[in-house]
Amino acid sequence: MQFPDLLERFLTYTRIDTGSSEESQTFPSTLKQLNLAKKLKQGLQDIGLMDATLDENGYVLATLPSNQIQNVPAIALIAHMDTSPDVTAENVNPCIHKNYNGKDIVLSLDAGLLLKTKDNPELEEKVGQTIITTDGTTLLGADDKAGIAEIMSAMQYLTEHPERPRPHIRVIFTPDEEVGRGTDRITLKKIAADAGYTVDGGPVGEIEDETFCADSMKIHIKGVNVHPGTAKGKMINAIKIASMVVERFPGQQMSPETTENREGYIHPHFLTGTVEEAVIKILIRDFTEQGLKEKEDFILSVVKEAKEKCPGASINVEVKKSYRNMKTVLDRHPVVVEKAEEAIRLSGLVPVRTSIRGGTDGARLCFMGLPTPNLFTGGHNFHSRYEWISLEDMEKAAEVIVKLMGLWAVK
Ligand SMILES: [Zn+2]
Repeated sequence: MQFPDLLERFLTYTRIDTGSSEESQTFPSTLKQLNLAKKLKQGLQDIGLMDATLDENGYVLATLPSNQIQNVPAIALIAHMDTSPDVTAENVNPCIHKNYNGKDIVLSLDAGLLLKTKDNPELEEKVGQTIITTDGTTLLGADDKAGIAEIMSAMQYLTEHPERPRPHIRVIFTPDEEVGRGTDRITLKKIAADAGYTVDGGPVGEIEDETFCADSMKIHIKGVNVHPGTAKGKMINAIKIASMVVERFPGQQMSPETTENREGYIHPHFLTGTVEEAVIKILIRDFTEQGLKEKEDFILSVVKEAKEKCPGASINVEVKKSYRNMKTVLDRHPVVVEKAEEAIRLSGLVPVRTSIRGGTDGARLCFMGLPTPNLFTGGHNFHSRYEWISLEDMEKAAEVIVKLMGLWAVK
């Protein structure tokens, strides 16, 4: 299967700065995301998806209608346009390394930055392929412009090959996924599909059907401030209470820096304080609801202790639900993941079912009612200057999309 425009598409998208912003209160969080959105709307129309629209919130939506006479489901293909605010996306200059020789790749001679095979053992399997990297000064944005380019090329392939059976296909490109707002302004009615796939995963062959269960907690401590000279018996120092609380958190276990695979964590990530008030913000992550609850109960017990020790202070805890493990939803619709595995197999790969130590738009969509696992893009080292991807893996991703659509078109 050939996707002649895939590389050029990908390079074009990566050069458009679409960094999103945590701080911004607007939607989308940065207006520059619309530059890519407009281009994608036009690109979809050029391919022949005539109903392509860019809505008032920055979502790009389009349909490739089914070519079947019988009733077929509608399947959404979803990718996000923004890139992580963690690393700059200004002036991305993708570097192409053709016929990769298996050695460390020089990203920047000046900065002495190398993409090392020692840190990237997967590079070994890519000898002879075309590797795309950054120039060491920005992220690449394969997360998730690879997903977008793969969906676009798959759509082009399907319009050029009308003999291939396909279901109704809904293409949806979202803003602001990286700041956790990718699904905030979309409805199931707008998506108009029976199942979906985000194309936002990692190494070739992977299908992700599990995410963390995630909540955030905010502890708000109010002390009493008095002139230090006359504070005896009156002052209650919120800073000291905050440090007492944080001191009780797990140190070497149950932290992001000490856990992997299926382990959860308690992650204090923000702390401010004066005598009068202090705020601690914490991320709670676990693969099970039970594990999440245990961690939250632990925090609540620590706060209870602090309250008992400092009766004059006021200490409040707020728990905010973020997202839940999508597996609980996907297990009720096993065919959605099974078809993806079958499509991966039909493309000559071995499907690898895996879990994400994080969330996706799909996790939220699952709980909105749209079963949506995550397909690989082929990308590595997301959110970093060391991001890289192989063109051959991107072609495989596009092929998997085409074959997956074929599987949904037949009974
Ligand atoms: Zn992503």
